[in-house]
Amino acid sequence: MNKFSSILVLFALIFPTYIFAQGHTQCGTFTTPSEIDRLKRNIQASKSINVANRDVTWVPLQWHLIARTNGTGRIKEEQIFESMCRLNLEFEPMNMQFFIHEEFNYINNDDFYNLESTGAGGFQYFLHKVPDAVNLFVGQINVGGNTGGGVAGFYSPSDDVIHLDRSYVNFTDEATVPHEVGHFFSLPHTFYGWETTVYDPSQPTPTSVNWGFWNPVELVDRENGNCENAGDYFCDTPADYISQGGSGCSYNGNAVDPDGVAIDPDETNMMSYFFGCDDYLFSEDQQAAVLADFDGRPAIHSIPTVAPITDFEANLNYPIWGEYVNANNAATFTWEEVPNATHYVVIISPVSSLDIVHDRAIVTTNSFTTSGELTDGRENYYWGVYAYNAVSYCHNEVSKGQFSTDENSVGVKEISGVNDFVVMPNPISNTDELTLFIDSERAVDVDFKLYSATGKNVRSLLNNKINQGKNQFSMNINELPAGMYYLSVQNKEGVLNKKIMILD
Ligand SMILES: [Zn+2]
Repeated sequence: MNKFSSILVLFALIFPTYIFAQGHTQCGTFTTPSEIDRLKRNIQASKSINVANRDVTWVPLQWHLIARTNGTGRIKEEQIFESMCRLNLEFEPMNMQFFIHEEFNYINNDDFYNLESTGAGGFQYFLHKVPDAVNLFVGQINVGGNTGGGVAGFYSPSDDVIHLDRSYVNFTDEATVPHEVGHFFSLPHTFYGWETTVYDPSQPTPTSVNWGFWNPVELVDRENGNCENAGDYFCDTPADYISQGGSGCSYNGNAVDPDGVAIDPDETNMMSYFFGCDDYLFSEDQQAAVLADFDGRPAIHSIPTVAPITDFEANLNYPIWGEYVNANNAATFTWEEVPNATHYVVIISPVSSLDIVHDRAIVTTNSFTTSGELTDGRENYYWGVYAYNAVSYCHNEVSKGQFSTDENSVGVKEISGVNDFVVMPNPISNTDELTLFIDSERAVDVDFKLYSATGKNVRSLLNNKINQGKNQFSMNINELPAGMYYLSVQNKEGVLNKKIMILD
């Protein structure tokens, strides 16, 4: 029997079409009575925890990124950053913050990538997990031949690891990864016991339910009920019998408890199975129990050894904006070190959004040599540098540049007759006006464009006529933030660039 066949959903927001078409997504976590004993101990210990007064609790995460044996299918590291960003938000009420433990672990293994049952990873977990962090494995979960829509993720108590389907590891999905981390820290579902049982209104409500183990059914009454010894064992989460979820974040069923009182489950609880809610939260008692469970696991107690990155901007040194790069050779791209950054994601792309990846790497120094020739025949490329470290990964600041591989195109540093230009003053205060002096051997029309170090066009002076001889132009840079910029003189024939430092 598939014990998880009727377990469901949380996250309609990201894949609404898929979910409604598919019906169910599952969490494959199987909470045993010994886990419930651990939970009860945590609830007892949590009574002395004041969540609001706790200092930040740092939690090290060890990520294992699984690919097929041939290396394909692996999730991009940027999605890990997004997912951690989401985790930090969802665990902020208990002041828990997650950091990257050791380097990402890359595993290539067809069977492990395409996990076909929630218990099948055992030997791989044993091979790869580290004792001093929360271990998260990301691949493709394919339980029941239902890739990406069956089991979304699970916490395996016996292996003490979290396994996630790659489709749910991102920022948008606010419930899957935080829900599994909730399980890691001993939280059961709010409907604990009903995992494989559908509430049947035609029958009297039982006083206990069996999903492999018997569990007492929680009464609605908080004063004289059994909330400390039934259901999910939390008294600040209302009685919930619904493992079959509801869309639209609302429960419209007519379930009553064994005393005949109508239940009113909290659809927005992180450990429930209702989908379509705008927000999901842990209750205060759940938060305290998570902290108590953390306190009882000294093996994962550590703090980050790096300081946060305060300014993510990488000043790109080579190539500068529009510069010609010989496409027939491997090229080395360089930028200035970003203080406190330990790693950089470098992407080379034919589009400025960098969404199409021509070449990509994670490097630990401030340079990247392309793996091969840039031979796909395009003329213009963009490149981007994303700086991060173990605690500073939650940002969108990509420093962008552009270069050309065609000596005879706009990318070349030459406009016939215009040999160079001078910009004064440089550095310049952002309350001053920039002056350009251009000597030309002939009359020519050009555009002036000012780019930030991240490649954003911040000022333009279009259709300027340069005459033969000496020319002078001025550009207003009022209110531009301090930093490195590129002033570009360009037309169809070529591009000339100058680095400019703007000061406050
Ligand atoms: Zn679950």
